Amino acid sequence: MTTSPGRGYQAPEGGWNALGDEEFRTVVRLMVEEHYPQQLRFAARRLTWSEQSEWVLHLAAARWIAPGWPVERGGMGLSSAKQIVYVEEFERWGVARYVDHGVTQVGPVIMKYGTEEQRDAWLPPIISVEHRWVQGYSEPGAGSDLASLRTRAVREGGDYLVNGQKIWTTMAHDATHIYLLARTDPEVKKQAGISFLLTGLDAPGISVRPIRDIAGHAELCEVFFDDVRVPVENRVAAENEGWTVAKSLLGHERINVGSPKLPEYGLSVLMRVARSSGAIDDPVFRDRIAAVQLDVLHLADVYAGYTAKVSRGEQLGPEVSMLKIWATETFCRIADLIIDAAAEAGGLTGLEVELGDDVHDVLGPFYKARPSTIYGGSNEIQRNIIATAVLGLPRG
Ligand SMILES: Cc1cc2nc3c(=O)[nH]c(=O)nc-3n(C[C@H](O)[C@H](O)[C@H](O)COP(=O)(O)OP(=O)(O)OC[C@H]3O[C@@H](n4cnc5c(N)ncnc54)[C@H](O)[C@@H]3O)c2cc1C
Repeated sequence: MTTSPGRGYQAPEGGWNALGDEEFRTVVRLMVEEHYPQQLRFAARRLTWSEQSEWVLHLAAARWIAPGWPVERGGMGLSSAKQIVYVEEFERWGVARYVDHGVTQVGPVIMKYGTEEQRDAWLPPIISVEHRWVQGYSEPGAGSDLASLRTRAVREGGDYLVNGQKIWTTMAHDATHIYLLARTDPEVKKQAGISFLLTGLDAPGISVRPIRDIAGHAELCEVFFDDVRVPVENRVAAENEGWTVAKSLLGHERINVGSPKLPEYGLSVLMRVARSSGAIDDPVFRDRIAAVQLDVLHLADVYAGYTAKVSRGEQLGPEVSMLKIWATETFCRIADLIIDAAAEAGGLTGLEVELGDDVHDVLGPFYKARPSTIYGGSNEIQRNIIATAVLGLPRG
């Protein structure tokens, strides 16, 4: 793989949106097929930075790392339709996700709520992937009820002194920075006393402990803060106004988890497994595949509508919760179909299963699908939001 981008992968005059969507699709397809390492396709687990850094840095050097960011900030400035094409082609080729919260979450938040100094300081290292960000929201006693968080940040001169614990922090052991919510005023209503802070994970007093999951991987972590100094200028938005920032970021996360990315990854695996096992030759099974394919196509359409709203700077309503439920539950159904398609091999606990002439990760999508209904706000919580804020039903 070369780290210097080929000429064909540079935006044409007038930007990427000057191309037709299908023309752009061909460019993305060529890009991933030429540059993404074959041995990393359809990875069964989250890859570490050392495994994928060459590819990710290549994307960054080519200015392909932030499809939705404005061109002035180093992004591709893609229209909603082209962002979907980008995702579809990455998923079709089985490109692994890197620790991308900088681009997908904290970057957009800094653009919206940060000062000009913060934008200049924090956005360039996100685009160059020098900084890889993780999310320090959940705590042992604060998940769905996030506002109950207990991590404290106490002002001491020009710093906050932070003490507490975060949990389920994805890939914290392999990242460089964390954005976190900390309580700066314990005396007021719980949502009103929270601030949004940024810090390097190498700050003295931070320790990270990986947690092994049911698939045998250690992607989740506990992060401990013991008298950690965070400069006051690393706070995004005013003191005690972190809840507004946190909710906006969760909106980005919901849109992101609600993208067709996960079910499209599942569909790619499903098609490969069904072909290898011969399940594709069964017309009844083909009908089941067609049903989920249609669900994913509809999801992609609805998703494009929401990203178009975001690009126009419009506020999303509470009904966006529907996207997350749709994407993750479709993904779960596809993961179940993959196991069915693999027939007797579907019960094997090994991650890689030989089927026909091919080797597949049959259970990988299953292990990825269930947790997706929990993170980013569990689907039960999304249903509560729809029930109360969209349908106007009384609170339970
Ligand atoms: C794979 C994975 C990655 C994650 N990564 C991160 C990360 O990087 N950073 C981070 O900060 N967090 C992360 N999380 C944590 C995630 O945000 C929380 O797990 C989630 O918000 C649920 O919180 P909890 O685990 O404390 O469960 P709880 O809030 O205790 O919920 C337990 C169960 O009760 C249900 N429930 C709770 N309240 C209600 C209610 N009012 N009505 C109906 N049902 C309810 C929930 O839906 C759930 O089924 C991750 C989680 C997973 C699974």
